[in-house]
Amino acid sequence: MPIFSPRRYQAPFYPVRRDAWPVRVFTAFERTVKGWLFGCRMCGNCILQETAFVCPMTCPKGLRNGLCGGATPDHCEVDPSRPCTWYMIYRRAERMGRLDKLLEINAPLDGARVGHETWLDMIKFWFKRKQGPHPLHFFTHRSRFREEWDRFFYELRQPEWWQGDAVYHPPAYQEPNSLLEANLRTGVFVTTAEIAPPLSASCDPIFKKVDWLKDYVVAANFTDNASASARMGSLAASKICLDAGLEPVMQLQSRDRSRVAIESDAMGAAGLGIRNILCLSGDHHSFGPPPMAKPDQVDLDAIQMLWLLRRMRDDGVYLDGRQIKQPPRFFLGTAASPFGAPPKYEAIRAEKKINAGAQFIQTQPIFDYNRFSEWLEALDQRHLLDKVAILAGLTPLKSARAAHFMANDVPGVVIPPEILKRMDEAGDKEAQQEEGVAIALEMIEKLKNTPGLRGMHLMALYWEEIVPRLVVESGVPRPVIRAWPESDEGCPEIEEESAVLA
Ligand code: SF4
Repeated sequence: MPIFSPRRYQAPFYPVRRDAWPVRVFTAFERTVKGWLFGCRMCGNCILQETAFVCPMTCPKGLRNGLCGGATPDHCEVDPSRPCTWYMIYRRAERMGRLDKLLEINAPLDGARVGHETWLDMIKFWFKRKQGPHPLHFFTHRSRFREEWDRFFYELRQPEWWQGDAVYHPPAYQEPNSLLEANLRTGVFVTTAEIAPPLSASCDPIFKKVDWLKDYVVAANFTDNASASARMGSLAASKICLDAGLEPVMQLQSRDRSRVAIESDAMGAAGLGIRNILCLSGDHHSFGPPPMAKPDQVDLDAIQMLWLLRRMRDDGVYLDGRQIKQPPRFFLGTAASPFGAPPKYEAIRAEKKINAGAQFIQTQPIFDYNRFSEWLEALDQRHLLDKVAILAGLTPLKSARAAHFMANDVPGVVIPPEILKRMDEAGDKEAQQEEGVAIALEMIEKLKNTPGLRGMHLMALYWEEIVPRLVVESGVPRPVIRAWPESDEGCPEIEEESAVLA
């Protein structure tokens, strides 16, 4: 067990190409010492100073920018026999007064550096840079030494091709990029809904569900192999939905995708007219049906995806620096888990996502309004609510069994005992459904009167036909803008699509 970190989940990395033997000996020495101290996996891009000296690579998902939605104070969601690495980071950073350090957006790994020693490189970089930190200044100019130290390590950990920071980057465009964005800008309460892509190759389930939903919601989300379980891809399902007359929100998760696939799929989506992209890290493979895929397939996390896609859109560059002649038009979103960790920690993660590029956030289903309000309040204290549109997640419970499943087996979902009791005591199947609808309507009533909230996201998976009833009975507004006006000169490309969307 390492001294400063939880035990590492997987073996250390080894380089793709072997170095000369003196370097290999040094690398082996470094791997032993850092393994003993930090459970180091030799990722080649050390961010220990940003993570309160707990190695984030001991997280089974290798997340480098904060905890996942299923983290708990007791254990990691992937391996309950070990603590959550990121909980440990937040707690220690708080004790050390270094929580602000967690806001910097850390770079993904450079595969060429993975497995290599870093100490010799650091010394070489210090000589090459010639700007300190100078050891003498530690005794003579302490503040100057600290500044030089911070600058030196910032340059070391933030490669030219990334340059992550802790600053908000507003979108670099004026006209809305999607109908969802246009509706959110009106200030009217917006409703979106989720559709599970079919398990088969048939498009009919999507056509049928789009037909149910299109007069009631602004856009429909398509999950991206949620719970590590394969079904029709979200890109294909989103395109079918768009052609059927409803704007999609394409969920794009980093699990199973390298940075190349993420850039390529997002660019392809933009080319097909899909503008709303929801960036997720994704459930770990261990949540899927067996046989489990080999682990360690998370190349970027959701925050890094947002940073990457925002730069493709606003700066017109790929990660490798190649220019994009016609940059894609994205409206970027992400998910949040108001019940995953204490609101003060979740708010840091939300701020990081917003700084990276998130323009809307859809939350996990809300059953505990008071805890949700605490999370919203924590975001408000960080002045985030005017930078992002929050859509509160809501799931109508179809049965008592489904309620217990969600409470016990879905990471990041909290259902208070009184709700479970109501479902348990409701009676037969129909009565349980009615109770589920009643609970959902009570929650919508609270949500639609909540300051700072811009809408709701209905996740009635395998029960999508209930969405129109919830919209009608709750009295929330129907979509205000359903198609781009013919004369909208600000959106020439989208005008062309109005025939599809109308
Ligand atoms: S709970 Fe999530 S963030 Fe925490 S160590 Fe496990 S996978 Fe990583």
